[in-house]
Amino acid sequence: MNNLADNKNGFIECYDIGGTNIRAALIVDGKIEEPFINEKTEKNNVGSLVQQIKRISSSLRKAHPEAPLSQIQAASMALPGPVEGMILLGSKPLEFDEEIDFSCLLGDYFNVPLLIGNDLNMASQGELALGQFNEIKNFCLVTISTGIGVGVIVNGSLYNRQTEIGHIVLETNPDLANPCLGHNGCWAAQASGVGVEKTVEKMGQKLTAEEIFEDSQFQETVNKVKHYNAYGIGNLINAYDPEKIIIMGSLGLKQFNKIIPDPEIIKQYTLLKNIPEIVPTALGENIGLFGAYFSARNFLKTA
Ligand SMILES: [Zn+2]
Repeated sequence: MNNLADNKNGFIECYDIGGTNIRAALIVDGKIEEPFINEKTEKNNVGSLVQQIKRISSSLRKAHPEAPLSQIQAASMALPGPVEGMILLGSKPLEFDEEIDFSCLLGDYFNVPLLIGNDLNMASQGELALGQFNEIKNFCLVTISTGIGVGVIVNGSLYNRQTEIGHIVLETNPDLANPCLGHNGCWAAQASGVGVEKTVEKMGQKLTAEEIFEDSQFQETVNKVKHYNAYGIGNLINAYDPEKIIIMGSLGLKQFNKIIPDPEIIKQYTLLKNIPEIVPTALGENIGLFGAYFSARNFLKTA
């Protein structure tokens, strides 16, 4: 009999569920099978999201006759929020305040083991396994997109606690501080896509983050974002002493040069004066899918 857990060539059905898009793919041997799915997330309603995931799963399996059910070893889902066991403890990007138990909602549906995890924690495992810096055993992975999140690898292992350093409060001026969940003026509320849009909205204009970064009249706002990032990244260095800081997320990757500060600016916020190199992830927009894949691989290895 073929032992499924020993079958290293089996497929993992992977999901990267973000505040803007869901990406879904079958991955085998660390390679994404084409075609994969990328569509707008149906957020704010648990029922619709669950229906959407079921629909995506069935299209994905239909599109890949080379991956019969017997060859799919697990389904793995990266979610934007804190996760405990099979429960998502709320998610700001998905606009869920309540806890969501995925074993009840989808456990029976998948007919293979289902694994869920925090997206940044999973992406960090993807970066560790596949990234260009696999000799580096201490790094912080920072996503800058709809929100801001941080994953931490210490001595080659995931720092698997519900740390939320993206919510460190750095703007205390009530006129400038944007609201977040139960607090105002955190790094995410000031420097994420949603944060920048909020800041410009206060100035009387409704624009997308992308429009704001391309418009020279918002130069001062963009510089301020860079300064917030210096403060946030400075505190990552103070807290974790990483050898590298790796940037992911649509805004972080597209606007890297505009929003990632020079070491001289970051030094204003650190005790150690040796600022580690800050680089974009080589895994690009698919890092979340690879994260879901390697987390499932690690899980199957130890199960
Ligand atoms: Zn916050």
